[in-house]
Amino acid sequence: MQGLTCSTCHRHTSYYRRENEGVNLCKGCFKDSVERKVRRTISRWKMFSPADHIAVAVSGGKDSLTMLMILKKLSAKFKQTRITAVTVDEGIAGYREEAVDLAKAYCDKLDVEHEIVSFKELYGDGLDDFLRGRPERMTACSYCGVFRRKAINIGAKRVGATKIATAHNLDDVVQTYLLNLFQGDVERFARFNPVLRDPRGGFLPRVKPLCEVPEKEVALYGYAEGLTFQSASCPYMTEALRNELRTMLNRLELAHPGVLFSSYRAMTKLRALAEPGVPDSVLRSCRSCGEPTTLEICEACKMVGVSMDKLEVTA
Ligand code: SF4
Ligand code: ZN
Ligand code: ZN
Repeated sequence: MQGLTCSTCHRHTSYYRRENEGVNLCKGCFKDSVERKVRRTISRWKMFSPADHIAVAVSGGKDSLTMLMILKKLSAKFKQTRITAVTVDEGIAGYREEAVDLAKAYCDKLDVEHEIVSFKELYGDGLDDFLRGRPERMTACSYCGVFRRKAINIGAKRVGATKIATAHNLDDVVQTYLLNLFQGDVERFARFNPVLRDPRGGFLPRVKPLCEVPEKEVALYGYAEGLTFQSASCPYMTEALRNELRTMLNRLELAHPGVLFSSYRAMTKLRALAEPGVPDSVLRSCRSCGEPTTLEICEACKMVGVSMDKLEVTA
């Protein structure tokens, strides 16, 4: 876009062309527009109230570091809102150490408190050790997803947070909507939302402040801010269907700019229509760890081998 002028300030050279709006933006106007979009998303979905203490889930990847930076900027304007970064260390050798170090360094730089919660501390083993010798009936991500969800909830409660912010961007959200549909999981489709408030209690509400920012804009914002983030992917990454969806959606967006936004809007409306038809399940406290679950023993405790028989023996 060399030589083109910013459509907003009409002074500086264009840094980025936002194809779906047909505008060219200089670096400053681009960053402003992303921050504005995040602010609008937060207020449209009523994600935070001024008294909230937000646990920002920071993995050390581009999305989470960018979100931390934007929320830190916004929290400077809303002085009562407190933020603390929470990082889950899954114990994946050669991958997670670098990300945890990056998360630590950025928290120091931004003067944000940082809490690290590890699989080892919660479940006795990091993911690598946990998977060793285990039959490959389930993928690493199936275990990791359950463990991570519980770990974030525990880490956030430990720092006294009232909400959890995760860095899912527009692309992630559209992929998840489609994944749930393609897998025939209507209940999950109906429950998936930029704001997850569990009316049954136990889980802290989860919000996705970047859910209306496309992945490439999140990455460009981070790049424009000079962020260094981990580029290596997790060695266990196996989500084949999600990867195919990502490729398909990227191709569609390139050929038909705006298709990602319009499908996001349509699916959020459809989701709201479907939600009342999904029965509420009852949440109780896990008999082993006390965390919320719909079962007697939570999924994570079951995965590490806790069973009712064992509980009764030790009781
Ligand atoms: Fe965990 Fe899978 Fe993500 Fe790796 S890719 S961090 S195993 S959920
Ligand atoms: Zn400009
Ligand atoms: Zn449990």
